Amino acid sequence: MNIKDKSVVSFHYTLTGDDGKILDSSEGKDPLSYLHGSKNIVPGLEKALVGKTVGDNVKVAVSPDEGYGEYDSALIQKVPPNAFQGVDQIDVGMQFHAQDPQGNVQVITVTEVSDNEITVDGNHPLAGETLNFDVTIEKIRAASEEELDHGHPH
Ligand code: ZN
Repeated sequence: MNIKDKSVVSFHYTLTGDDGKILDSSEGKDPLSYLHGSKNIVPGLEKALVGKTVGDNVKVAVSPDEGYGEYDSALIQKVPPNAFQGVDQIDVGMQFHAQDPQGNVQVITVTEVSDNEITVDGNHPLAGETLNFDVTIEKIRAASEEELDHGHPH
């Protein structure tokens, strides 16, 4: 079986930045599963996996425009502390889910804290990075109707 739309694919991966630093890895964990064609993973990696089969090793460098996007300084905002209702203390590095005006949920990261102002960054933590994936395909199967309906594997 080869990877195509409506395949549920499980793979092990190591993600390395251009500086050679390991950013993420499934080593020691279960393989990551995704539903092909449903934008569960970054577009550049999804494209590179089309037609692959179990046991294949795929190495691909994904540019930011096919990864987590270019870094956009317009996504850095300063907000008053009372924008974080129900949170006792705001610290640098904390992450929150926020909704943009279009209703899309994004993750924002606190990058600076002062008494009357909190700086948050709405860029994905890996925005602007080239993503060097080293992937080994572990399992491929057809998605169930329910999985196709939900747009993710179960
Ligand atoms: Zn579901």
